[in-house]
Amino acid sequence: MRTAHFVCHAWDLADQGVELSLDRLVGEVGVDSVCVPAVTDAIDVYRPRGTGESRRFRTDGGIHYRADAQRFAATRIRPVPASWMKSRHVLADVAEHAAKRGLALRLAMSCCLNRATAERHAFAVCKDAVGECRTARLCPSNPDVAAFVAAVAGDLAEQFAPAAIELENLGFGFDAAGSPEWIGMHVGPLERFLLSLCFCESCVQAAGRAGVDVTTVRERTVQALERVFGGEPARDESPDELFARDTLLADFTAFREQAVASIVASVRSAVQTELVVADPGEWAVGGFSPRGLRDACDAFRAPDGESIDAGAAPVESPYGVQPARVQRRFRCGPPQFHQASDLVRSVHRAVETGCEAIGFFDFGTTTHAGLDWARQALRFARRDAISS
Ligand SMILES: [Zn+2]
Repeated sequence: MRTAHFVCHAWDLADQGVELSLDRLVGEVGVDSVCVPAVTDAIDVYRPRGTGESRRFRTDGGIHYRADAQRFAATRIRPVPASWMKSRHVLADVAEHAAKRGLALRLAMSCCLNRATAERHAFAVCKDAVGECRTARLCPSNPDVAAFVAAVAGDLAEQFAPAAIELENLGFGFDAAGSPEWIGMHVGPLERFLLSLCFCESCVQAAGRAGVDVTTVRERTVQALERVFGGEPARDESPDELFARDTLLADFTAFREQAVASIVASVRSAVQTELVVADPGEWAVGGFSPRGLRDACDAFRAPDGESIDAGAAPVESPYGVQPARVQRRFRCGPPQFHQASDLVRSVHRAVETGCEAIGFFDFGTTTHAGLDWARQALRFARRDAISS
């Protein structure tokens, strides 16, 4: 294991004291790095340790640092500062105090899911087949979005010289409030995929230029969705099975994957920093294709909560890269783990199978016991690495 970090939101560090929190993470938990999300979607959480002015923290999201406006000349999208910051610049304090303690700084950014930014830039949001706007999702095929994401990454690299930048929520998606399975109708993987298909002006133009018959793709998508609106239950079919019999949709999907890959390429050309792409989970829904991304990024981060079977043989990474290029992140508590030994075993197993970067999520919502679980997991993984 090369590095272990704790994800710490800037507001939690500010409320609990930046120096006190970092001391605790170094001295008690034993991480060598902190990962601060610099750009996020809306967040609404309870903080179990009860520190800060309020147990509950809410933000509409946006940018959680002071952006350099000059960096954004190539895009019509302006950085929207999160309202909680007021006049403070917590990330600058974190960078300074982390450096004093020898803690490496990683920065995460939500690329396409960002309600505060999307609401102010309606021209850049995803639009589904029936013409509804996804109010929190910036469309990856919009050139302003690609330029915005690259500008943020360049700004972060310049201002804070992080050890790594993590690209989260990269790609298209199906963002519904409430139960993912019940949003006024019954949806399964196939329906989520159909609802994720974007037909905004940028997608229609770019897909058309790539030779895709977008009009027919949209007609077929609307027909399928109308059946769902009419009360048909979710179909027992995966997007991949659909592509096998609908090559037009497969072509449209290839175009989407290309759009997502070009964002990573534009970030790559903007920064030298280690670049980590977070796997969004449902690949077809996101337009996520590791094959198109692996040359532009240094590592992938497996989805949170993915269990690692302690008894199973090491499996080939689904990303087509060496295990050292697959990073993992763990929540120190339910629903992923219900006791310390489960977390200890999973972290150990990840390290044993070649994972070099481990993360814990996240400082603000982890209980006192959860922080101790992380300490135990790291100590065991390191001790075993030394003795073997
Ligand atoms: Zn679009």
